[in-house]
Formats: sequence, C-alpha cells, structure tokens
Amino acid sequence: MGQGTMRVSERAMSKEYFPIGVLARTEQQSKIPFLDDLSHHMVVVAAANLATGSPEAVLASLMHDMFKGLMVWRAGVRGSNWLHFSTKPGIYEKLIPPSIRVNAKQVESFIQKHHDSRDIANPIRSVESIQGPVTSLESKIILDQVPSKTKALVVKLSGRYRWLLAFYINQVLKQQLTDHYGNTLREILAVQNVVYHYVPANLERGYSDIDDCLEALNPKALQVYRDGDSLHITLPVLRLSRPMTISYGKFNALEQTQDSLRVPFGEALSLMAFDGATSGKAKLLYVDAGFTITLDQSVQTFLNKLKGLPHIAYSASDIARSLEGTFRGSYRCSFCGEGADSKHRLSKTSKTSRFTSIQVLLDSRLYVCPTCAVGYELEEQLRRKQDHFRIPMPALVSKIRLRPEYDELINFIRGDNYLMSLAGEMWLQILSEVWYQRYQQRDDASYLLDPKALMLPVEVEFIPQAIYPLLHTQQKKFALESSLASSLVLPASVKDIDADEFQSIRRAYQHLGVSADSLLKRIKQIYEPLYKGG
Ligand SMILES: [Zn+2]
Repeated sequence: MGQGTMRVSERAMSKEYFPIGVLARTEQQSKIPFLDDLSHHMVVVAAANLATGSPEAVLASLMHDMFKGLMVWRAGVRGSNWLHFSTKPGIYEKLIPPSIRVNAKQVESFIQKHHDSRDIANPIRSVESIQGPVTSLESKIILDQVPSKTKALVVKLSGRYRWLLAFYINQVLKQQLTDHYGNTLREILAVQNVVYHYVPANLERGYSDIDDCLEALNPKALQVYRDGDSLHITLPVLRLSRPMTISYGKFNALEQTQDSLRVPFGEALSLMAFDGATSGKAKLLYVDAGFTITLDQSVQTFLNKLKGLPHIAYSASDIARSLEGTFRGSYRCSFCGEGADSKHRLSKTSKTSRFTSIQVLLDSRLYVCPTCAVGYELEEQLRRKQDHFRIPMPALVSKIRLRPEYDELINFIRGDNYLMSLAGEMWLQILSEVWYQRYQQRDDASYLLDPKALMLPVEVEFIPQAIYPLLHTQQKKFALESSLASSLVLPASVKDIDADEFQSIRRAYQHLGVSADSLLKRIKQIYEPLYKGG
C-alpha cells in the first residue's frame, strides 16, 4: 500500500467518523448504493428468516454477504458488478465449525444461490425480493405499502401526550422485541448474540476475481465461530486500517466505545414510521420473525412497570384502543379531540402554568381520553427531572461521497445519489441514537458538529434527528381556545435546531475554521434554555 493511501486511511478512521461499516448493497441496474450497513443488512435478513425455523436459513442469512468488504468489482455488460460470494465447493462449508450444529452443506448452498433466480425456495432471496423488508425503495415509508415481512402496531399521534405515551410504548416494544428475537435465535441456533468483526483485509491491491482474492487473504480474516452464547463472524474490508466490532443481541441498551457498537435486537429491527400525511398515524414496525406482539401486551407491560401514578379511570385495553385511535367515547378529549368517557382532575399548578385554554383554566375536571390521561400524569411525574426524553428518528443524509482510497477501484459510485430501504431507515435511526448518546456524553465537539459515518467505500454526512415528546419548560404549552372546534391542537412554540440550521452550523465549522468547542458552547447558550425548566 502506498504512502499516500495510508495517510488517507488513517485520517478516515479518526474519531470524527462513526460507526465504521460497509455499504450493504447497490441497486441491480443503476448500481446506486442503498444506504445501510452490511452487518445490519445481514441481521435483518436473518431476523426475517427466524420465521422459517431453519438453522441453515438463519446462519446463511447471517453470512451471505460476508465478502462484500473485499471490494471485488468486475466489469459486466450492464456496468460493474460487486462480486461478494464464491461458488467454489466447500468454501463456506469449511468455515463453519462443528460447534455450530447445522447442515453446513445446505448453508453453503443457500449462500451460493442467493442471487440465482432458479432457486425459488432460497430463503435469502425470498427476503430480499421486492415484497421483503429489505428492498422497499420508498425513502418515506408509506403506511399502506409496508412490506409483508414486517409487522406493525398502529398508533394515533394527534397531540403531544399521545407522543409521550407512544414513546414509552415504543421503548417497551423494543425490549419485548429484543427478548423475542434473542430467544428465537437461541432456539434455532443456540446463540443469542451475533458479533461482527470488521477486520482489515491487508491485501496489497484490489482484485477482480473473488476466488483469487480469497486465496490471497490471510485465513484469520475469515472466521465463523461460537463463543458461549455469541456467534462471531469476521468481515474483511479492503483498505480498512482499524478493526471495528458491531454486535446485535439480547442487550439492555445501545452501547458504544470508540471501536465497538452493541445494538439490542429491538433497536436494530424496529422503526417508528410516520404516515407523513395529515392522519397523524404512525406505525411501530418490526421485522416479522414469526411472533406477534399486541398493543394490549405492550400497554399492560408498561402499566405494570409504572409506580406512583394517580388512579386512571380506564383499563389497559381502553388505553390500547385509545392509542390506536379506535376508542369510542361519548365525549371528546380536551387535549387531543379523540374519544373520551371519563373526567380527569388536573393539578392546580399545571393548569395555571402550562395551559392557556380557557376551558382548562376554568374547569378542574376535564374529559380526557385514556391515552392523554396517562400521558398527562406521566408528564406531571417526569417534568421535574432534567432528563431529556427523545425518540431518535432516522438521520437525514446530507451528503455521500466515495472515499478517495477507492477511486481507482470503483467507477460507478458518483455524486450524491442513494436509495433507502426500510432496513436502511432502521440503520439511520441507530446513527441518530449513536449521535445523541455521544452528545449526552459530551463527546468530541468536532464529531458532534460535523458527524460522518464511514460506510465504505463511501462516507456519509448525516444530520441526527429526534422528537422530544416531553418539554422541560414552564412555558405555556397548549393553546386550545380555538382548537377543539377547528380540530386543531397546537403545542406552544417548541424550538430545536432544525436540519437547515444544522447544515449552516456544519458549514460554519467546516469552512470558517471556528474552534469546535467554542462553537458548541455558543450553540448551547442559544438553544439549551428552551429545554430546561425556568
Ligand atoms: Zn386525548
């Protein structure tokens, strides 16, 4: 490797880039990249194949694209092809140790035929096909077109208290999903975590034949093994200078260090997707692995965990129906306009300090729907704490570009074009979450101001996104005087840095040579008081 390349690689791996991964795939005809990480892509396919109950289908899914990071391209009739599997007999079979109890020959067959249209029953192909969770091309998920390999709980989000409860239910759902995916994986493959090791391929040059490349590769860069309840898979990457580990499994929370990321299954395999239209509906989507979770279960689990909440005159089932927008009451909720049957008492202080509605100010007891009743009491309990609850949303991508160290190898990735799949949205949500976690840990200001992810061979500039369902401010919140009659419920002014402002800040940082720390300090002075009480 030349001196110049080495220098570029080292800078590429510097702290401001996170996490390190490899592009999952490109679109067949146009070769436009799908923004999703390779390891995540394989976990999504494997999760969908848990429903088959076949250890071979699941293991094959977890390994099927493992050579992608070797960056083997070959010119074809319709442009370059990204070669990423070998058809050489025994190549995968010999990677699988006897401690993993599968029919290794069948695993190999599934992998080697995952692009073969004649292999109709191929489990990887069937998940990646147009109805699967992976290929959905929409960048904004249209609720009616959610692919069949996903399941969903529908919630109605007309009003902030509904957001707050939906946020908690989403948290509960993710924990339930983490347990379910982990347990199902253990039943099928006797492990409950999958650990991917991105390792430097240490090859002198690029290759255009996968078997030549594999022959030149140090065998240590290609391993599959079991260690306790974890399955380890290495993913060799050409021109990667530093190893990086991404694990998916039965973890309690997303955790990161400089070179590793641990993602609970529930975080990796679910998404809160919005209709985008005026219906105010959202879906809590998750990859269909053969089990079903109901909204009633999630609400009940959530209520069981709650402590010290005043009496709510509704049942768990009422709350679930209300959250999904099907609860029929004789009255309308004073906060969201949905069906309500019971009056709820508001605290004196919250009334005078937080609401501007004449109705709220005059009556001490209001008709409130089951969702808002819980949401209101939750907020009463939580708003004094200085914790900033947020729902991480898929990060916005502002720019992608080919890394210079791949210039001479890859000629088809140009410009800023990319495609999104549902799985990609899930990954971008993880990116946002990683950013917010680093923000809370007061990480390196340069990373926070100019976040980039390496998804080799490209780098991705992104803007983290989140929704704050709970405000820590004494400012007036609801302006309801004209609301119920006009079906309009407006939260009082809420200010966070929006995407345009984020881009302006990034540009200022990139081009004006402002010190990162002083810029960050200034931003905090401007924005933070809005999130704190008083
Ligand atoms: Zn309501």
